[in-house]
Amino acid sequence: MARFRSTLLPEILRTLLRAPETVDYPFGPAELQAGYRGRVAVHAERCRGCSLCVRDCPAMALELERDGKDSYRLIYHPDRCAYCGQCELSCRFDCIYLTNEFVPGTADRESLVTVLVDRKPEGGT
Ligand code: SF4
Ligand code: SF4
Repeated sequence: MARFRSTLLPEILRTLLRAPETVDYPFGPAELQAGYRGRVAVHAERCRGCSLCVRDCPAMALELERDGKDSYRLIYHPDRCAYCGQCELSCRFDCIYLTNEFVPGTADRESLVTVLVDRKPEGGT
């Protein structure tokens, strides 16, 4: 009992008074490390539609739909993505990169599909 009072009790009180060490997620935003490999994003203005990222993606998570020379869409499927970073390595224009954003789980995979680049010819709609 004496040991409980001298060591365990103070530790319990300290623990009760400390701020929580757990995170709020999923009730609050998930704060991830800077180096976490998450959702893929682009600097759309740098994209040339060369499709090197599509060619090298081992998970077929990227798709390039081309309507003409200057008209294409770069589409990303996060549900297929392995977050390997190969697209970032393959792109010669520093366009595509991995963010540290968490991709939430869903039962509707289609809802995750993202158009990263939607390029239209100049003067087109
Ligand atoms: S991170 Fe890997 S799997 Fe995901 S889109 Fe890029 S190359 Fe494909
Ligand atoms: S993101 Fe980079 S590699 Fe992919 S199509 Fe655009 S320019 Fe080419």
